[in-house]
Amino acid sequence: MALLPMAATEQHGPHLPLSTDAVICQGILDAALSQSFETQGSVIVLPLQGVGDSLEHTDFPGTLSLSADTVTEVIFQLGTCVRRTGIRKLLIFNSHGGQTQVIDIAALKLRQEFKMFVAKAHSFRFGLPEGIVADDELRHGLHGGAVETSMMLHLAPDLVRQDKVSAFGSIGQVMARDNNHLGPEGPRASFAWSAQDLNPSGTTGDATIATAEMGRRMVAHAADTLRQVIHEVQSFPMTILIEGS
Ligand SMILES: [Zn+2]
Repeated sequence: MALLPMAATEQHGPHLPLSTDAVICQGILDAALSQSFETQGSVIVLPLQGVGDSLEHTDFPGTLSLSADTVTEVIFQLGTCVRRTGIRKLLIFNSHGGQTQVIDIAALKLRQEFKMFVAKAHSFRFGLPEGIVADDELRHGLHGGAVETSMMLHLAPDLVRQDKVSAFGSIGQVMARDNNHLGPEGPRASFAWSAQDLNPSGTTGDATIATAEMGRRMVAHAADTLRQVIHEVQSFPMTILIEGS
C-alpha cells in the first residue's frame, strides 16, 4: 500500500507557525512508523503535501492555498502514478480540516477510474485520550486551540510563541447558547465560514491550557490509531470490492 500524507500551510493565529498542520501530520506519521506493529507488506510513504486547500484562511498573510480543483487534481495525478507501479491501495492521511471534501472527490475519482481502494484518515477525527480536554474545547477549539497548541509544544516547542498564547473564543460558543442545530460545524446544520468569522484572530480554542505533556499523549494516541488504520487497510481484501475492468 501507499500512504499519502496531506497537510497545509496556513495561518494558525499569533502563537503557532504556518507549518502547524505539516508538523503535526509528519509528527504523528513518524511516531506511528517508529514503532513496529503488525503489518502485511510494506507501506510506501509518499512525499508530504505541504500546501493544500486553505481557502478559509486566505485573508491572513502567510497562508498558501491551492484551489479545490487543483488539490483534487494533484491527489488524482499522484494516485495515477501509484496505480502505475501496480499498487492498488492508497491511504490518504490528512491533518487539515478544510480539505476533507476535495480528498473525498479525488478518492472517488481514483476508485472509478482505476478501481483503486482509497482510504481516507483525518488526524482530527482520531479522538483524544479520555478526558484530556473538556467537551466545549473539543467542539469549539477548531483551530490553534488546546489540541493543536499542545501537539506543537510537544513536537516543535521552539516554533510556539508562548507570549502570544491566549484563550480564543469562538462565535460557535455564542451560537450554541441559542441554537440546538446550527453552528460553524453543526451539530446538525453548519455554514461555510472564513477563519475570521469565528474569531478575528483567525484562531479558536483555549490555547492557554495546552501543555507539552498533553501534546505527547495526543500524538501517541493518534499514532496508535494510525497504525491500526494502516493494518486494517492492509488487511482489507480487495476481492470484497467489485473489480470491474
Ligand atoms: Zn491546523
